[in-house]
Amino acid sequence: MKILIVEDESRLAEVLRRGLREEGFAVEHAANGLRGEEMIMSAHYDAVVLDVMLPGLNGFDVLRRIRAKGSKVPVLILTARSGLDDRVRGLDLGADDYLPKPFAFKELMARLRAISRRPAVEPQNRLLIADLEIQLGSREVRRGGKLIDLSSREFALLEFLVRRKGLVLTRSMILDHVWASDYDYDGGSNLVDVYINYLRKKVDHGNPIKLIHTVRGAGYVLREPSS
Ligand code: CA
Repeated sequence: MKILIVEDESRLAEVLRRGLREEGFAVEHAANGLRGEEMIMSAHYDAVVLDVMLPGLNGFDVLRRIRAKGSKVPVLILTARSGLDDRVRGLDLGADDYLPKPFAFKELMARLRAISRRPAVEPQNRLLIADLEIQLGSREVRRGGKLIDLSSREFALLEFLVRRKGLVLTRSMILDHVWASDYDYDGGSNLVDVYINYLRKKVDHGNPIKLIHTVRGAGYVLREPSS
């Protein structure tokens, strides 16, 4: 896995570079936005860690420009500005995830793994896990062939879990993705538990094979049953 870090603070860039290398990633670094854009457009990266406050071209500009040029590289935005507006703006411009500074390295790793697993090419029309089938176009969900009626929020939550199957997702990751644009999540992680509960009732209830699992002290994971 090759990661590009676009970050002008050399100390932070160095810490990230070292940490990511220890985790087995190949790492390259750009110290300003323009250089970042050039590198993204001329090499293949599995993911880009992109700072917002950069000299010259800021992170949002870089993101807009690489998306306009057709780059689909997964991008994780890093920013000291933790306002909801910036987060929404980043996601609207085509960022795959958003992490406010300061952050725990462990969280950065979890998010990088999550976004780089995402299918980078053509979006799939159908997701399949065991006997659970999700039609993304018509938004129809079936378990064992039987149609399940989900609200749009439940659908978004299920899709998020399925796309990251096998990966433990924290409540804040789920909130950020599924409620990103319209929920200020301070103290709201209970909302995730409530919706997971709804989903379990509709998706797992009555089926001997459970797909949605709680990981104590961490969050939730959707697992494909081992044969
Ligand atoms: Ca910066």
